[in-house]
Amino acid sequence: MKKLSLTSKTLIALLLGTAFGIILSNMPTNWFTQTLLLNGLLKLFGTGFLNAIKLIVVPLVFVSIVYATASLDDLKKIGRIGSRTFIFYTLTTALAIILALFIGGILQPGSGVDLALLQANEVTVSTTSTQVNFIDTLLNMIPTNIFSAFTEGNILGVIFFAILLGLSITMVGEKAKPLLTLFEAANEVFLKLVQIIMKFAPYGVFALLATTFANFGLSALMPLIKYVLTVLLGLALQLFVVYMGMLFFIGKLRPSVFLKKFMPIFNICLSTASSSAALPMSLEHSEKSFGVSRKISAFTLPLGATINMDGTAIMQGISVMFIAQIYGIQLGFSDYIMVILSAVLASIGTAGVPGVGMIMLTMVLASVNLPIEGIALIMGVDRIIDMFRTAINVAGDNVCTLLIAKGEKELDENIYNN
Ligand code: ASP
Repeated sequence: MKKLSLTSKTLIALLLGTAFGIILSNMPTNWFTQTLLLNGLLKLFGTGFLNAIKLIVVPLVFVSIVYATASLDDLKKIGRIGSRTFIFYTLTTALAIILALFIGGILQPGSGVDLALLQANEVTVSTTSTQVNFIDTLLNMIPTNIFSAFTEGNILGVIFFAILLGLSITMVGEKAKPLLTLFEAANEVFLKLVQIIMKFAPYGVFALLATTFANFGLSALMPLIKYVLTVLLGLALQLFVVYMGMLFFIGKLRPSVFLKKFMPIFNICLSTASSSAALPMSLEHSEKSFGVSRKISAFTLPLGATINMDGTAIMQGISVMFIAQIYGIQLGFSDYIMVILSAVLASIGTAGVPGVGMIMLTMVLASVNLPIEGIALIMGVDRIIDMFRTAINVAGDNVCTLLIAKGEKELDENIYNN
């Protein structure tokens, strides 16, 4: 056991946790399963691990971005990286949603579904749609009080402040050098902290997955199996065709290396269903195993974990098609354009925490007048999809980071290939 790497241990924990959760869900509810296991030991290890990760996300994002911006001492370079990152994130999200609409149109996951069976598993949801006003999203990025941005976990606000601070350090130059050294040291310290917390990953991952599957009714899965498989296919195509194609053709990097080294991050995404929770590990691996200079990853990864949600966009595109097919509603060309625009906007507005993509789906459905109640039909299986779509969200951030780093000559290919 000692010889196994942390990644292998986490992977084993993931499989065992899933199996244990399924067994638990089939056991009668009693003191042992409820009090001792679910609300006792599993909660302690699962929530404890998650809390520890959440604890470091905001300060880690802050020091990373200040350091990244301050150490890129060329303002033109900062502007170039920033705009390339934003364009990359928006384009891949648009591509993801178009891909989802195509797959949903071809495979028709909503046709021939037994509505009565689905309604039996319906989950009650609020049918008020979430409106994301673009101006409000932008304004939210400019916090009026940096301390409330920290305490509320307003990551976009923290990023905005950190970029300004980093830029100011760069502009002041020599006199601000001690600050740069301070942030450099803080960066090292926080990455060490990530490593310490990740040592507990196998226990945390086991507990989180056991809890997820113990609470997840597998019976909800069967009537929706076509929908779930269609979303999984969409996610797989985004990963293996779109991202790996980009790595290979644009970055001239070996996709198989990426897939292998992405595995530990993938495990954390599956167990936490949160891009923010996967961020500390992404930051650590980007430098140590992918060979990306921290100057790039410290900037692109936190931004991606907050505004780039390609997996979520795929789920939303397929859900739109599924709900339209179930209710027998025909969508026209202008509706599809509307779905693409609103899903890209929703992706920017979606926080990297579990389940938010489903809430944002209300906005996408409302934009083309589809019944928001349709969400109740798919809510029961959302956690499973959330696990996988989060992994794709995070894979997108990492692929973008690699390509930007390669373009800026900030990628050490020896580390990548090693
Ligand atoms: N859980 C997703 C993430 O953190 C967001 C979502 O689609 O719900 O990336």
